[in-house]
Amino acid sequence: MIVLDQVNKWYDQYHALADVSERVAKNEVVVVCGPSGSGKSTLIRTLNRLEEIDGGSIAIDGRDIHARGLDVNALRAGIGFVFQHFNLFPHLTALENCMLAPVNLKRATKTEARAYALELLDGVGLAHKADAFPHELSGGQQQRVAIARALAMRPPIMLFDEPTSALDPEMVGEVLGVMRKLAGEGMTMVCVTHEMGFARDVADRIWFMSEGRILEKAKPEDFFTHPAHPRAQQFLADRS
Ligand code: ATP
Ligand code: MG
Repeated sequence: MIVLDQVNKWYDQYHALADVSERVAKNEVVVVCGPSGSGKSTLIRTLNRLEEIDGGSIAIDGRDIHARGLDVNALRAGIGFVFQHFNLFPHLTALENCMLAPVNLKRATKTEARAYALELLDGVGLAHKADAFPHELSGGQQQRVAIARALAMRPPIMLFDEPTSALDPEMVGEVLGVMRKLAGEGMTMVCVTHEMGFARDVADRIWFMSEGRILEKAKPEDFFTHPAHPRAQQFLADRS
């Protein structure tokens, strides 16, 4: 579904992504981990062209997404992206946040968008907060609305960049729970996260990054019990 071939990215002299060649299959959940500055965000952001690349190619369903002339807005409409900071529209309710894109992009009538948004809010456990404004919600609730909002465009792929790292510890579980449910429903997901319990339970594959390279890709049962690369061993040792 997603094929990265020899992807390279430079920030001036800094080689942020070095020869990354990987694949994500349909329905697969990939967790990207690695030390700070290793290129995880850069990598995930190239998948919906929030970052440009300087070499190689990325194809989604056979289409080169970094091709010139590609409609970037259409690309992003088909990929849900959830960031560390939820960036809900503060002047819109939870429900309105979830209705905005489908209505504005004319993917649904207001009535259809409202019905689907309510269904999604129900799915993340927030049907009762549909009319609340972001400032009336906890961080975990806001992040669950952000996930519902991303799902409102019915994307076949969801990308997450540390969706729980800005949350108070007691709210991490509710957001991971929503992500687990999505994975269980067969969503294709690429998740940057430091939540190793989630990675162990939910990931089909782990990509371990260091200095712009994927140094190790492994099934979680292998990665967590006998990581092959010394840097992966060190990374896990630092966390245990
Ligand atoms: P973290 O775990 O801290 O989020 P990360 O693995 O997501 O780290 P990236 O944000 O992808 O790391 O950054 C990779 C490297 O590229 C870092 O050294 C960072 O300083 C550098 N970098 C990222 N964005 C830019 C930018 N816009 N301009 C210059 N350098 C950048
Ligand atoms: Mg990052």
